[in-house]
Amino acid sequence: MKTFCGRANPTTGSMEWLEEGEDYDYHQEIARSRYADMLHDKDRNVKYYQGIRAAVSRVKERGEKAIVLDIGTGTGLLSMMAASAGADFCYAIEVFKPMANAAVKIVEKNGFSDKIKVINKHSTEVTVGPDGDMQCRANILVTELFDTELIGEGALPTYEHAHKYLVQEGCEAVPHRATVYVQLVESKRMWSWKKLFPVHVEAEDGEKILVPPSEMENCPGVPSVCDIQLNQMPSSDFTTLSDVVTMFSVDFSKPVQSASTYYRVQLEPVKSGKAQIVLSWWDIDMDPSGMINCTMAPYWVKPTSALQWRDHWMQCVYFLPNEEPVLQGEQLYLTASRDQYSVWYNLQKAREGGNKADEEEPKADVRVESPVCRCRAHLLWNRARFGELNDQNRTHQYIKALRKVLKTDSVCLCISDGSLLPVLAHYLGAKQVHSTCMQPSRKDLYHPHEFFKANHLEDKIKIIEARPELLKPSHLEDKKISVLVGEPFFTTSLLPWHNLYFWYARTAVSTHLASNVTVLPQSASLHMMIVEFQDLWRIRSPCGICEGFDVQTMDDMIKDSLNFRESKEAEPHPLWEYPCKSLSDPQEVLTFDFTKTVPQHCLSTEGSVNLLRKGTSHGAVLWMEYHLAADISVSTGLMQMSNEKGNCEWNPHCKQAVYFFSSVIESEILSDPTAVTYAINFDTKTGEIAMDFKL
Ligand code: SAH
Repeated sequence: MKTFCGRANPTTGSMEWLEEGEDYDYHQEIARSRYADMLHDKDRNVKYYQGIRAAVSRVKERGEKAIVLDIGTGTGLLSMMAASAGADFCYAIEVFKPMANAAVKIVEKNGFSDKIKVINKHSTEVTVGPDGDMQCRANILVTELFDTELIGEGALPTYEHAHKYLVQEGCEAVPHRATVYVQLVESKRMWSWKKLFPVHVEAEDGEKILVPPSEMENCPGVPSVCDIQLNQMPSSDFTTLSDVVTMFSVDFSKPVQSASTYYRVQLEPVKSGKAQIVLSWWDIDMDPSGMINCTMAPYWVKPTSALQWRDHWMQCVYFLPNEEPVLQGEQLYLTASRDQYSVWYNLQKAREGGNKADEEEPKADVRVESPVCRCRAHLLWNRARFGELNDQNRTHQYIKALRKVLKTDSVCLCISDGSLLPVLAHYLGAKQVHSTCMQPSRKDLYHPHEFFKANHLEDKIKIIEARPELLKPSHLEDKKISVLVGEPFFTTSLLPWHNLYFWYARTAVSTHLASNVTVLPQSASLHMMIVEFQDLWRIRSPCGICEGFDVQTMDDMIKDSLNFRESKEAEPHPLWEYPCKSLSDPQEVLTFDFTKTVPQHCLSTEGSVNLLRKGTSHGAVLWMEYHLAADISVSTGLMQMSNEKGNCEWNPHCKQAVYFFSSVIESEILSDPTAVTYAINFDTKTGEIAMDFKL
């Protein structure tokens, strides 16, 4: 069987569908899966085990046989816990075939084959009866089907079906219940992920203010969850406007309804401010008494208990449709609406002067539709990109650089996916500004025209409805480009070097460039550093024994998948969320000269880097820096190395590339520094970078 995998081609900036063997998809899935992270989540595992033991005992005390249904068994871990706790039989359901196969092996290796039946099906396909997958309905329902938003992986429909068809009435459930909590906050930083703020520019003829189109101003954004490691958000970056409030609970031991619904709570701000964001997280009680609780509460909520780091469950940031000024002590209603898979929030004020009944139950638009982006910018730019566009320091660097290179007779072409640069170039005095449109045929995506129009520049900036490769002299009114600019930013980029598409585009438009053209950025460089992660290493590290069960089969499977391609690949991670310390100095490893065209040959480098600090080398981090003009650079990676200890500050709007070493290296002493050698190759034909590291 063949599968088609969508992949952006960094040499063309567009999506391509590649035919891959059947194995490819599954190796990708395993290699990038969260299984290792879950197996390393000690807090989760211990509490599941306690909850399962308690549930089995309760059933046994009633004199019943303990029949367990484990939906989404993965490695078989929760079923093995149940069998060890004395369950009579477990049905372990797993829809993902490679995992079901692994579960069979793991169950056998741990000696539970007679107690656990692994069924490779989606739970809704499972049959019950003498000839069915299950002999009878189960009386203990165990699952771990939750994502950061709780319901995003389909827990509700799965539970709804299981209660109807697969478990007995009055069954025990582990977890017994989940509760979703919310807190209303004001945060310029997080709000900048949803809205475009006005940009102030000191132009020749006075201050100009770039404003977003009104459609963008009032756009509710997209419904997809924004899940982040909230524990990395310093308390100085937000103001809490309310206490933590319980939004809703789901009792998993009773029939569950998955149909769309809403929940409403009354709130009283503890502080006046601008309500912008709803922060949310959940906890699960493994038993009915609530004594075994596993919580995702962030640091300021549970400051005393040690936080368990995990990446498979984080916290959610929800953006209110509009910013709402609120006063301390006033009455507000917060509504959480949900469909089967996602949640969204609305805030309403209790109407002043209204009668009592009105205040208790606001009647207006009881159920609010899921947010749908109307301005289409939220479909083009993700949240990090909004943050990047709102980053004044960064904009300032571009303004400084543009000032240096622009002249009054400049004919300027901008190549980027929706950028402020054409407007900045115009304000800073370029005679003629053209802007390419990266997806001219995609009418569903934001079009730069709307932004230019909002600033009354639709006649000043010419939009070229063609990709750079198809540029014709007529597009430029038969003029040559004297200044070519780009951020560079392209929505299809996954890894930092994919934005080198700018270089390919620059090459494609070569014949349109004046002989003395200025290219901004003039060059880019790839930088690399060896790091020790505080926690991120867990997601790719073998687990071995988990709560007494041998899960090495899973470790081997992940390792196989990681080695599936000849050379391992780097993966993108936003490192502001994942603290690490540098063990080496940052090193520039490759440079890309945008004043010249992309060469035919590959760009390779080899070298070694010294480990200067004591620590565990988990991997290398790579990022790009763009040299806009003489002495003006922007980094998409390391911003600062703050202190002696090597703690790093990363660009908060960009993902960096992380290459995990297949085995970790411990460096001990500084007098005789260990060296790591590297070989890095930029394949100019594919736009991809391959790398290899050796101790
Ligand atoms: N129970 C394991 C793994 C949890 S990950 C543990 O706790 O360590 C969730 C697993 O459930 C995934 O492997 C996914 O493929 C599977 N899954 C999700 N929904 C399912 C369903 N309705 N039926 C069967 N498997 C499901």
